[in-house]
Amino acid sequence: MKGREPGKVELRCPACGRDSWLLRKPTYEGFTKTGEALTCALCGHEFASEAEIPFKDSRKPQVFSEDDRPRPVKVFREDEKGRMCRYCAEYVVNPFLQRCGLHHCEVQATDTCPHFKPKPPPKENAGTGEPNPFRL
Ligand SMILES: [Zn+2]
Repeated sequence: MKGREPGKVELRCPACGRDSWLLRKPTYEGFTKTGEALTCALCGHEFASEAEIPFKDSRKPQVFSEDDRPRPVKVFREDEKGRMCRYCAEYVVNPFLQRCGLHHCEVQATDTCPHFKPKPPPKENAGTGEPNPFRL
């Protein structure tokens, strides 16, 4: 009976760039087995440890780089945000509904409008009643 042939462990060799497989060779110091040399069968590239072998089979999860991840979706593009009703001078909020003072209709804060008019910045020094000359 023939000895069990070790299954080919397929890998993608980073040294030669080919689809290759792993060679395991016991390493000896004198007559003592000190470990295993893990090398590429095609080019002989030696891997320092199993952890750095790019296996092809499914026993190891494929490692994806950060770039492969879907990017978080930005909800609003900047220019869209700039035209949202909530930032519009005509946007009127009352306890029951939000409406557009220009079109006299109900709006959502996140609506955008072609007649968008930027809301003036909130007055912070309302105490004096004087317009702040340093504020645009
Ligand atoms: Zn190789």
